[in-house]
Amino acid sequence: MIRLAHPDIREEDISRVSLVLRDGMLVQGERVKALEDSFAKYIGAEHAVALNSGTSALYLALHALDIRTGDQILVPAYCWPAISNVVILLNADPVFIDIDPTTFNMDPAHLKAVLPTLSRPKAILVAHLFGAMANMPNILSIASQWDIPVIEDAACALGSSLNGRRAGAWGTMACFSFHPRKIITTGEGGMVTTNNPRLAETIRALRNHGLDPQSDRREFLTCGFNLRLTEFQAVLGISQLGRIEDAILVRRKIADRYHELLSSGLVIAPRALSNSIHVYQSYVVLLPETLASERDAVIEELLKKGIETTFGTIHIPLSTFVRTRYGYKPGRFPQTDSVSDRSLALPFSLRLDSEDQRFVVHSLMECLSKRLSR
Ligand SMILES: *Cc1c(COP(=O)(O)O)cnc(C)c1O
Repeated sequence: MIRLAHPDIREEDISRVSLVLRDGMLVQGERVKALEDSFAKYIGAEHAVALNSGTSALYLALHALDIRTGDQILVPAYCWPAISNVVILLNADPVFIDIDPTTFNMDPAHLKAVLPTLSRPKAILVAHLFGAMANMPNILSIASQWDIPVIEDAACALGSSLNGRRAGAWGTMACFSFHPRKIITTGEGGMVTTNNPRLAETIRALRNHGLDPQSDRREFLTCGFNLRLTEFQAVLGISQLGRIEDAILVRRKIADRYHELLSSGLVIAPRALSNSIHVYQSYVVLLPETLASERDAVIEELLKKGIETTFGTIHIPLSTFVRTRYGYKPGRFPQTDSVSDRSLALPFSLRLDSEDQRFVVHSLMECLSKRLSR
């Protein structure tokens, strides 16, 4: 079976984790702090706060902005639903923005058109989907006209950059995930980066029962949670972050091989903004429009050949919960409609070799040609 994804866990990772498990200091020690320090440095941000998931990172970033009932938060229509769930969990309302079909990211032109129609826009949550940078210069300039903060959902984009500036170093805050399908993994895990010391302190308090992070007395400043990362997860993160530059080079080489194999043009290969680095958290292609209704059958057929593929991500406004709550219908987000039906994520991991890639592309082409000639 050629798997969709596989985390890169090495012996050195395992022995570091074992050391922590043996010494018994499992939470609230020095390792989480060490991961935060190297992570902040890598991104080029002043502060990094480690959390137990990317979703916790998104939730606390919004929470720290003091979002209130009825506030409106702009989010991309095509993304993992965590991005709008955290908004709804804070009693605010997500306002969905259609995507630019070339990068799969929030379309600045649609953002610009929607903002004047809103009564209480409070923040923009922008994702760098699948590892491709969103158009941050345009989005930040629109946000500054409305004087609202931008939070980056960089869950897929650790190591991505645009104009030499990393994902996570653009917005007021940025959120990362260390889920096994992301660029580095701690099993579950996440991080918020920011240059704002007050926001960093608020998130530190919120992740730890509301306890004042500066005080060694028991000073509970707010109503918090327990959303902490463990020490053994942190050393796994440190170990993985140490190899990230190599990992990204390999990912980009694998992507180049796919690009070349797909050059017949039957499917559209992933694209990125010029002057940007795409890290290919996922390699998502678009099937021909005429085969949109057959995408799930293509996934089934490839699986029978031992190739695991999946859809790109979620059309959030048409997902059951959001559609029922807000009454969205197809047609409202035309680019998202078109992309979500045709998207296909190909197997992508550091262990994928060129032989596997040739087999994947050959099988895909065979399957598509057969269906196109029917
Ligand atoms: C993975 C992901 C998340 C959620 O991260 P978790 O660590 O799984 O909670 C949020 N947004 C995007 C774009 C993601 O890819």
